[in-house]
Amino acid sequence: MKNIVYCGGVPIGGDYISVQSMLNVSPYDVDASLLQIDALSKAKCDIVRVAVPDDRAASVLNDIVRNSPLPIVADIHFSASLAVKAIEAGVAKIRLNPGNVKGDLKKVVDMAKERKLPIRIGINHGSIEEEFKKLPAVDALVASALKHVDLLEKLSFSDIVISVKSSSVSDTVDAYEKLSKLGYPLHIGVTEAGTLKNGIIKNSMAIGALLLRGIGDTIRVSLSCDPVEEVICARKMLNFLGLRKDMIEVISCPTCGRTEIDVASIAEKVEKEFFNLSKPLKIAVMGCVVNGIGESEGADVGIAGGREKSTVFMDGKAVETVPNGKILDTLRKYVLLKAEDNLNE
Ligand code: SF4
Repeated sequence: MKNIVYCGGVPIGGDYISVQSMLNVSPYDVDASLLQIDALSKAKCDIVRVAVPDDRAASVLNDIVRNSPLPIVADIHFSASLAVKAIEAGVAKIRLNPGNVKGDLKKVVDMAKERKLPIRIGINHGSIEEEFKKLPAVDALVASALKHVDLLEKLSFSDIVISVKSSSVSDTVDAYEKLSKLGYPLHIGVTEAGTLKNGIIKNSMAIGALLLRGIGDTIRVSLSCDPVEEVICARKMLNFLGLRKDMIEVISCPTCGRTEIDVASIAEKVEKEFFNLSKPLKIAVMGCVVNGIGESEGADVGIAGGREKSTVFMDGKAVETVPNGKILDTLRKYVLLKAEDNLNE
């Protein structure tokens, strides 16, 4: 039986898999923090983590918490007194590795218990303790996590979330798989995953593999870029796996010698235009009529390109043939029609 904990109003450990990200603006700059939180909220992020490196950052935390539409997690390293200040500032969760804490850990745990705040133990392969460094990578991640869990359990604290991240896809998957038997909710993701392209690939492989096995309760797609991209990628992963139905999915053919229209540009424009349409519609952009219609039978709305005119179809049936200059307008018309249908179902 898995524990469920709550980060603000967001459950971690139940059926809903939440999406989170982390601010990358200065932790002392309240306005910049709130601006980034607002962008994350508009992208439908569920939880936001904020680094709290020192007292100066802790002193502005309450201004951020009070004005944030999303629950805030304080990311603390080593310091019990910073954790206490973060809890007093009203954060909804703490990321803290209890075994590394200097100061009064019991006070932190008692305050978290009293306020029903979860604590995430976050193990990264790059910061494994000396005592576990000789172990194989996966064993080291798991042993380190268990050590920190044990410390919290000894203080009778059980609102625990665990993460064990590596920059290796296979080590990340193996470590989470081992820990999944514990019953604590898991925050899954790859650490130091890299820039947009590499990061998306690594995160998709690891997070996808885990979610397909039913492992993972909250996800962060770590990327070296704007955190809004992390949220978009995470939501797409959940939608593509059928775990959420709050986005359109644009499918498009790989193009070949038969291609009659600019598939990539049309697909990108459709994706951009309907990004905020919270409907699980599948929209197909196919380069020719020879294979296009058959290849996109499962789509709600689609286009199959022709030399001068293209065929638009809805629910797998041809509904209109339009000059290629009118493809986008016609797709828009049918997508909105289908979205309305979807609303009335
Ligand atoms: S749908 Fe047509 S253009 Fe696209 S890859 Fe298939 S055959 Fe080629």
